[in-house]
Amino acid sequence: MVGTRRRLCCTESKLMENTQQLWKFNGGLKLKPNKKISNSSPIAPVASQNHYVLPVQQHIGEAGEVIINVGDRVLKGQTLAVAKNLISASIHSPVSGTVKEISKQAVPHPSGLNADCITIENDYTDEWIERNPVGDNYNHMSSHDLRNIIRDAGIVGLGGAAFPTAIKQTEIHIDTLIINGVECEPYITCDDVLMRERAREIISGADIIGHIIKAKECVIAIEDNKPEAIAAIQKIVDEDATGFFRVQPVPTIYPSGGEKQLITVVTGKEVPINGLPADIDILCQNVGTAYAIHKTIFDGEPLISRVVTVTGKGVTQPQNLEVLLGTSMKHCIEQCGDYQDNADCLIMGGPMMGFTIENDQLPVVKATNCLLLTTTDEIHPANMSVHMPCIRCAKCVEVCPANLLPQQLYWYASAQNFERVVEYHLFDCIECGCCSYVCPSQIPLVQYYRFAKSEIWEQEYNQKLSNIARQRHESRIIRMDTQKREREERSRKKREMLNRKKGKPGRDELDVKKDAIAEALARVKKKKEEQIVEPKNMDNLTTEQQLLIKQADERRAGNKQLKP
Ligand code: SF4
Ligand code: SF4
Repeated sequence: MVGTRRRLCCTESKLMENTQQLWKFNGGLKLKPNKKISNSSPIAPVASQNHYVLPVQQHIGEAGEVIINVGDRVLKGQTLAVAKNLISASIHSPVSGTVKEISKQAVPHPSGLNADCITIENDYTDEWIERNPVGDNYNHMSSHDLRNIIRDAGIVGLGGAAFPTAIKQTEIHIDTLIINGVECEPYITCDDVLMRERAREIISGADIIGHIIKAKECVIAIEDNKPEAIAAIQKIVDEDATGFFRVQPVPTIYPSGGEKQLITVVTGKEVPINGLPADIDILCQNVGTAYAIHKTIFDGEPLISRVVTVTGKGVTQPQNLEVLLGTSMKHCIEQCGDYQDNADCLIMGGPMMGFTIENDQLPVVKATNCLLLTTTDEIHPANMSVHMPCIRCAKCVEVCPANLLPQQLYWYASAQNFERVVEYHLFDCIECGCCSYVCPSQIPLVQYYRFAKSEIWEQEYNQKLSNIARQRHESRIIRMDTQKREREERSRKKREMLNRKKGKPGRDELDVKKDAIAEALARVKKKKEEQIVEPKNMDNLTTEQQLLIKQADERRAGNKQLKP
């Protein structure tokens, strides 16, 4: 399973064994993990349901292009929407059945806006498309071909960000691949159980990624509060003789699972502002993503399911489920014994980075790592609605892992001064929620940042649209102008032809005559101007000449006055 092309030389290998130093990032929080309530049982399957709703855009980037029609029969794993470009992802049918609807529907997104969705009616036959797994052959395939397979399989980062995976792997000759098994946010345990149960597949996926980017080493980083996961991964890594893999437990500090923070912890390097990990020869991928890549390469399956943690005091049997994308959240909650009586709030994601869901009929999407059900006695940043003014205590600054000034960002975001929020590096904010968590005024700071980001994106989008409209208008004017000139030229040629037939002079002869007349007129005008004697020249004339001119002027003046 594990290739040998990156076997390290003895010196390098020994060096790595000794290089286990870890670094710290600024800020962060020690939070109550609340993991045990959902990680004690194995990953459970979810019963099929009648309809699956697939939002066309479940990822960061451009929505895919829908390639099926209402009424079409589709097979399990069939592509419903294709990625338009590299920053896009395909969508596949999670079941076999019929396309019932392509329409705008509510989707799980902080904006609460409707978006294009495809509804598939399940025929319960589970008939797959033809699958063509690559298998061990991937070792002989080019990075380019493997990236295309990953893109066509619709694989995105499954840690929650849902960034198309293939685009992250375009840099080859990356030194260090970090497989992120940190899962630092409280309550969420989907990566933990995945590592415990499917360690071999995760390592296989990591090896495929390593092959694509020609990495020299692979560090599997896992928080030290997941001993079972560490042991399971270590067991598989020990079977590998290449020395390519290294399991690295990291301290339990939130948000050490953030990409930039984890890179700092593991390597001591900092991703530059407005830069990418690839700028410092590092690539970070989630364990769930590595697992999905293994499934695509070895089983020929696109991304049609994911592990979701259903947890919190508001659900009867918290656990992890393997959920087909498009399954309703309500169906998942029912699989876990349904709501507790005092259930209050449904959050997609964890208590720090998640957002509230008003309608439990919404579908599970690629970014759904957790459904957290809180109760009336719990308060968390995601559902704070009443807050007090900022008292400038700077607690938010102390905990910010991105070294930002959260109160300044809040100030400018609430004043809708978007230029200033950008100057204060809003887009470096990872929305970890640490600032909101410690704020004594209970200001939902992250919500302000999300609002500012979405406004800026919308402005940029509108600007793009208006640029397109302006360009189209300008092209239309140029086109009309060209057409007008062409029309005139055609009618001129026609006139000339007619004139020639009638024996009249053609254009050139007419032009010569016109030019001659214009020159004659110009000569007359010049002569007249020379005849007008400026007052300053009067000094050079004799008294008699001056008198004559004066009389002529008086006559001209008199003539003018007489004119009606
Ligand atoms: S923690 Fe809250 S109150 Fe304190 S400075 Fe930050 S925003 Fe203001
Ligand atoms: S949410 Fe953003 S501003 Fe607040 S602590 Fe996290 S990174 Fe800093």
